[in-house]
Amino acid sequence: MDRIIIKDLEVFANHGVLQEEKTLGQKFLICLELYFSTRKAGVTDALPMSVNYAEVCQFINKFLQKNTFNLIEAAAENLALSLMVRFPLTESLKITIAKPWAPVGLPVDYVAVEIERSWHTAYIALGSNMGEKRKYLEEAVKAMESDPNCRLLQTSDFIVTKPYGPVEQEDFLNGCVKIRTLYTPSELLRFLQKLEQEAKRTREVRWGPRTLDLDILLYDDMVTSDDELTIPHPELHKRSFVLDPLKQIAPNAVHPILHQRIRDIATE
Ligand code: ATP
Ligand code: CA
Ligand code: CA
Repeated sequence: MDRIIIKDLEVFANHGVLQEEKTLGQKFLICLELYFSTRKAGVTDALPMSVNYAEVCQFINKFLQKNTFNLIEAAAENLALSLMVRFPLTESLKITIAKPWAPVGLPVDYVAVEIERSWHTAYIALGSNMGEKRKYLEEAVKAMESDPNCRLLQTSDFIVTKPYGPVEQEDFLNGCVKIRTLYTPSELLRFLQKLEQEAKRTREVRWGPRTLDLDILLYDDMVTSDDELTIPHPELHKRSFVLDPLKQIAPNAVHPILHQRIRDIATE
């Protein structure tokens, strides 16, 4: 993919585990590769179509001077997140933070960490069948929207559906959202479980009544399964209460195991 490259930006800042590093400060060298399509900027020759690298350099300098981290791992992690939020054209990035004066006690050229971070696309199913159902779904959507690690792209209608499974219970309100996220799948699951808890969800009976249920349906075109998480959601293709709202916002998304479009799975 196209990228903008910034090489060895020098920043004087106060990161480090040792007290001297925090008080005296030292030199850091930052390399950054920002990945996004430069095609529009290239064709139009217009700066607003691109990412302004002077602004990026100023941003990095300010960020590393106003925050103090023990680890350059943490400096890189937090800087990556802030850059991706501040420069929204960025699809992914690679950051290297080097410490040429690292207190190693032996001659080294520098020590550095290098990380790559990327936005991912995920579809989340929302369901509620207790209390103020619409409010629970709306609040979950709002919470995703206001988390810096997530960007809300689309929200389906909320539809009333009949309960499913062996337990006698109220009708459900179901919906689905498309988000961009910096969370890994397991971090995303934990974030969603925190929102479920905030909605006072208790896990009494499986498939029983709940204030809020948030399931990860799709995450990029990932196929994965372990004890806590299966992606795509294993029941996705069997449930009309999931497929109907998903079809509204992603009719052409392709199920990475069935290799069929959501609209075709829903029709079947
Ligand atoms: P179902 O998974 O059939 O929709 P449920 O949503 O009622 O049932 P929960 O009690 O909410 O089930 O979740 C049970 C466990 O499912 C969670 O603790 C979680 O670890 C696991 N899980 C596996 N895959 C996913 C996924 N894609 N999204 C959300 N949870 C998942
Ligand atoms: Ca569920
Ligand atoms: Ca669930």
